Amino acid sequence: MGIHFITWIRMMIPLELIPYLVEMTGQSDRVGLIAQLVRTLHKFTAASSVRFFDLHQKALKEAQPGQLQLDYVLYEPLCPKSLGIPLDDFPELDRVIRQASSHSIPFVTVEANQREHIIFTRIEGSRVKSLLHMETPKLNATDEMTACMFWSMYLNLERTIRAKDQDPLTGLLNRRSFDETIATILDAVNQTSEVNRLSGAGACLAVFDIDHFKRVNDTFGHAIGDEVLILFARQMERMFRVADILYRFGGEEFLVILLDVDATKARAALERFRESIAIHHFPQVDRVTVSIGFVMVNNKDFPSDLIEKADKALYFSKENGRNQVHGFDDLVREGLMADIVHNTNDEIEVWN
Ligand code: GH3
Ligand code: MG
Ligand code: MG
Repeated sequence: MGIHFITWIRMMIPLELIPYLVEMTGQSDRVGLIAQLVRTLHKFTAASSVRFFDLHQKALKEAQPGQLQLDYVLYEPLCPKSLGIPLDDFPELDRVIRQASSHSIPFVTVEANQREHIIFTRIEGSRVKSLLHMETPKLNATDEMTACMFWSMYLNLERTIRAKDQDPLTGLLNRRSFDETIATILDAVNQTSEVNRLSGAGACLAVFDIDHFKRVNDTFGHAIGDEVLILFARQMERMFRVADILYRFGGEEFLVILLDVDATKARAALERFRESIAIHHFPQVDRVTVSIGFVMVNNKDFPSDLIEKADKALYFSKENGRNQVHGFDDLVREGLMADIVHNTNDEIEVWN
């Protein structure tokens, strides 16, 4: 009976697929999982191109204050340097995305430029959040079945990873995910900033705290307070770049890591966000403001030091009238704040 079953499995699933299945189930982070999915589909289908995209709604650059114009951009998690591809570059995806609510099937096939495109979508609510795009000269039923199987497996595994890393209220990354990955992120940032030192590009860690949020809860109730938190998070997603990393740190506190910025660009992006919140109409509550503190990432500070510095700058914003942005390094330079000198890597080097 056992042998019979194994023979049957062998007929259905090629044995070479099994190590790839094992590899996929062993991934503990989303990018690793996506990389394995793409690698597997390249290997086991005739697709000439396999690409994974996340879909983001972004405020367009030329948007006027108070008149936020939004559009979709595609972002490839496997190419973190890409800044977002306009949907116009992929007309065959455009249609699938804009008609998301009308198709409930997990994938769509489209013919364009004498090629077949298979497009798998992950839909949340009625919005496409991610998609897998495969391009083949000729569609083949076995390839379609293999892709379907791996896409379903991807969705299941991704759900588990997301449940662990995501803040359930806002959908942003949670504090746990920050603690787990921040050291790796800072390592990568410090390595690239060595290369980019001449251009001054680096990363910035910023902390946000909504002003007088207790009043929002006290006046309008906790449910409306929660809605403000959700809308605040949506605004973060729209205003920051796709590669920037957004967290809800807890309560009405948020944290952002801005990538590829110098201090001037970081301040400008944070000011633009602060202003966009100050003029945003929140249902019932109307106006809400946010105070922000930031610090530029350097290769000396530990994550805890960076947070402490950004927090001090945030506290300065609160103390000086709220609804403002301050950078720790500037406050120190201007003599408005004492530097923090503990926990540097230099101390550890003594033991090397
Ligand atoms: P400040 O301008 O000094 O930041 O004042 P604040 O009122 O925002 O600060 P405080 O820290 O005193 O209050 C934060 C409030 O956030 C208290 C708590 O009730 C509320 N809060 C924390 N988590 C949640 C949540 O998940 N949902 C809602 N609705 N409220 C929350
Ligand atoms: Mg607070
Ligand atoms: Mg607050």
